Amino acid sequence: MSGPIYLDYCATTPVHPQVKDAVLPLLNEQYGNPSSMHKIGMQANILLTDARRAVAEGLGCSNDEIYFTSGATEADNLALFGVMRQFEPGKAHLVTTEIEHHAILHAAQQLEREGYHVSYLPVDSHGIVDPQDLVKLIRPETKLVSVMMVNNEVGSIQPLQEIGAITSQHGILLHTDAVQGVGLLDLDLAALHIDLLSVSAHKIYGLKGVGALFIREGVQVLPCLYGGPQEKTIRPGTENLPGIVSLAEAVKVVGSEKQKERKRLSELRSWFIEGLRNRIEGVIINTPVHSSPHVLSVSFPGASAEMMQVRLSRENIAVSLGSACNSKEVAPSHVLVAMGLSRGQIEGTIRISFGYPTTQEELEKFLELIPTIWRRSKFTDG
Ligand code: PLP
Repeated sequence: MSGPIYLDYCATTPVHPQVKDAVLPLLNEQYGNPSSMHKIGMQANILLTDARRAVAEGLGCSNDEIYFTSGATEADNLALFGVMRQFEPGKAHLVTTEIEHHAILHAAQQLEREGYHVSYLPVDSHGIVDPQDLVKLIRPETKLVSVMMVNNEVGSIQPLQEIGAITSQHGILLHTDAVQGVGLLDLDLAALHIDLLSVSAHKIYGLKGVGALFIREGVQVLPCLYGGPQEKTIRPGTENLPGIVSLAEAVKVVGSEKQKERKRLSELRSWFIEGLRNRIEGVIINTPVHSSPHVLSVSFPGASAEMMQVRLSRENIAVSLGSACNSKEVAPSHVLVAMGLSRGQIEGTIRISFGYPTTQEELEKFLELIPTIWRRSKFTDG
């Protein structure tokens, strides 16, 4: 095996060959602006309509409920600011969780600075929120609840069914960041009472810099940007058509492979965990059983995860510390802190994440190298 062993699919994924084939014509002859009233523009507009239909079909909603964005960060921001800023600061309350991606957490903190009330749901040691905690937090002025579908650092699946039952009963809008969920898990927007949902193409084998926000028909969202008439003025700006087509194709790819891939990765991950347990004494698996099978958070006792990451990288193996977006920060992962892990355990934690190209052979190679890398990365051994 000579190429890299990439085990960081939560950070980003390679472009699927089917996605690449769909996008290439847009970089050549199909370069039109979908708003232009000539043939090349109209052809682009047809591609945009087809892409919107494919994304809507994949998510199980109508075409009119899809708004393309520059990624999930923008979709998350649009959901939070777009709903909350319709109300006067001081008179509206948002509930989210302690383990959201920074695209939600930092937007929520900005809303707090603007005078909005925000509450953060705690999680248990498995990284899962308790819907009963939500019931306790709801106030008459609660307007929006935002709970992610799958956590990007540990893979825990949140109880959206129960949460949706609570929000709908109270007439509160529910947003979910489904970035790490849509690739492998089934989703029923109506049954879960989801009003807004964010997705990102580059986490499901599409291009970077494109995503979408599902906004249920009838739900009011204020724009964050002002400009042309695109995306019904909710998200103006000339559409990133290659990106949008990549998202549509990626949604098709994961939709058709989901069931098979979920089973394959579940089995592969169980086998891999067994291998880790046999080789590393005292290894701790932070990922709970109720999780998406593409994520695995592992604590190596007494070790520096940073040193392990460097040593693995020298062997051309890519893993991450906590989440990719966190990896340059010195502060410990907010997710692992919320789960109650000790500082020492957090320092020894790496995230290994799998995708459709992941093979058992790659993981065998990892298991072969990991005991030595772990021993050499222990704090006492320097
Ligand atoms: N939400 C979650 C759960 C993520 O994992 C990520 C990316 O790491 C994002 C949002 C941000 O997505 P994007 O890179 O499309 O802005």
